Amino acid sequence: MTSALLPTYVRAPLAFERGEGAWLVTEGGERYLDFGAGIAVNALGHAHPHLVGALTEQANRIWHTSNLFEIPGGERLGQRFAEATFADVVFFCNSGAEANEAAIKIARKYHAVGGHPERYRIVTFAGAFHGRTLATLAAGGQQKYMEGFGPKVEGFDQVPAGDWAALEAVIGPETAALMIEPIQGEGGVRVIPHADLRRLRAICDANGLLLIMDEVQTGIGRTGKLFAHEWSGITPDIMSAAKGIGGGFPMGACLATREAARGMTAGTHGTTFGGNPLAMAVGNAVLDVVLGEGFLDQVAHSGLLLKQKLAALRDRHPHVFEEIRGEGLMLGLKLGVPNTDFAAAARNVHLLVIPAGDNIVRLLPPLTIGAAEIDAAVQRLEAAASEFEAVRGAAE
Ligand SMILES: *Cc1c(COP(=O)(O)O)cnc(C)c1O
Repeated sequence: MTSALLPTYVRAPLAFERGEGAWLVTEGGERYLDFGAGIAVNALGHAHPHLVGALTEQANRIWHTSNLFEIPGGERLGQRFAEATFADVVFFCNSGAEANEAAIKIARKYHAVGGHPERYRIVTFAGAFHGRTLATLAAGGQQKYMEGFGPKVEGFDQVPAGDWAALEAVIGPETAALMIEPIQGEGGVRVIPHADLRRLRAICDANGLLLIMDEVQTGIGRTGKLFAHEWSGITPDIMSAAKGIGGGFPMGACLATREAARGMTAGTHGTTFGGNPLAMAVGNAVLDVVLGEGFLDQVAHSGLLLKQKLAALRDRHPHVFEEIRGEGLMLGLKLGVPNTDFAAAARNVHLLVIPAGDNIVRLLPPLTIGAAEIDAAVQRLEAAASEFEAVRGAAE
């Protein structure tokens, strides 16, 4: 039977009927260990009782009212983010791309109301991924995603990360902001060194530019801090978040200082669904857990444990695992075999991992992962690797 869905995805021939923590279960009862977490979305795993409770409790009261009315849950969640981060104000939306669109608009408006409407250009970095809307595609700069979709949205310049001469050369009188992922996710779990982030902050300050952090994938505890930039000691002016922020409920947010957001007055931006009561109930419930006593330390600890075990695995299978990248529970394995083949081999041993650019598979388990599940995942990675070693052995 041909599918009625637009064929923009090559889907694995696998469907799940329910989930429990780090496990996904098929209709037939087969259990898969989920080290993809819906691409870093199910931050608290599947069917977390606190999230299920918050969602169902809210679902029985009110789902949606529109932003024409006050939404107490949103006021509370915004306040909590303001207290926990550099930001003073928050705009809630439905996805990472929308959060980045808001970030771009806030940065342009900041300069426009400051008397410099000509400062609208945003500098981004090679290998970036910022979303699939027309502007965020232009920001990401990947030709393969823009092909056939008409002229590239104007106003984005891209340089290689770490190429300081190229960066200085591209910054001009029209530049409004720099936009960067502290760890490139889709691009292949490429960590931007903390010293480089500090240097970018200094360049922004010296040139009157705003610094936008795309923390859509790195945020909400993924690296062991609420947001990954905290490790570097600097703060952005504007930041996008999404993926884990709703624990599986579609939700995004753009956070900013009051100064950076000075142009965003009534009517300048909007959303029908963003920040609705259902999303805000779940968002608050996610924060209850992530900001709970010891939670982020546990994420950092689990990340170190996993990384140590992966290092031993790499030593045993150097032809399959070439390099380990990432921080906390956002880890990438650079492979010596094709990443999509490896992901399929892992799936055969009931482990879910996610391919990324640069021949990487990403390990993005729920942040609630335990030591036993880490052991089980490493065993399954080893079993998948052995399949490739067997093929190699036969060919030699
Ligand atoms: C996933 C992702 C996006 C896009 O988020 P959507 O919710 O798919 O729009 C943007 N930036 C980064 C860093 C991402 O990982």
